[in-house]
Amino acid sequence: MKKIYIIIFLSIITAIIITIIISFIYSKNKYTHPSPPHQKKSGLPKKRISTIKKEDKIIFPNYFPDSIISQLDLIHVKYINYNNSIDSGYLLVNKKIHLEVQSIFKDLFTRGFLISKVSTGVEFNFSDSLMMENNITSCFNYRQVNGSRRLSQHALGMAIDINPRQNPFIYSTDKKYPLNSIYDTEVIGTVIGGGICEEVFKKYNWKWGGDWRSFKDYQHFSKNGH
Ligand SMILES: [Zn+2]
Repeated sequence: MKKIYIIIFLSIITAIIITIIISFIYSKNKYTHPSPPHQKKSGLPKKRISTIKKEDKIIFPNYFPDSIISQLDLIHVKYINYNNSIDSGYLLVNKKIHLEVQSIFKDLFTRGFLISKVSTGVEFNFSDSLMMENNITSCFNYRQVNGSRRLSQHALGMAIDINPRQNPFIYSTDKKYPLNSIYDTEVIGTVIGGGICEEVFKKYNWKWGGDWRSFKDYQHFSKNGH
């Protein structure tokens, strides 16, 4: 009789031990189970993905630093083009001025200032000379100031160029960009002191390159005056 009790006792102990071992293995499996795909972290910074997704053609040249690209937002703006039609385009701007740039373009639209074409510059591979020749209104471009080694405010997405063909950068009588452009205040799309475009930018405390004394950059507006 004693033997039976011992066998029952040992069986219960064995059952308890087996249950403990199984539950331990199960809990360990549960803990190390890989997270479902939607929880996996992506290797790319979140903002950069959302920026690229909005216009899936954004391929930046290799020399554009990631630290600067991560400061950018892609915005969509409406404007009236040279055919007097409603048009729209994308701009890459610094996050700091995202909302302000949208307000500026809203004001330019409402007040009827004509813009040739708005673009990120992607289709020109960010070539400043090509963009000027094609009369592109743009913001961000990782480049230096024309004729200098200093990094431009465009490199931070903190400056905007408006209708470059009508609003050249005039360094001296024989040095102007784009080449063969003429600054004529009677021509549509030209930025004039006291005109709609200058007034709108100044309302938001932006500075105009047409006010510079040493040389004139009629297309250029920036927040800090450089
Ligand atoms: Zn500029």
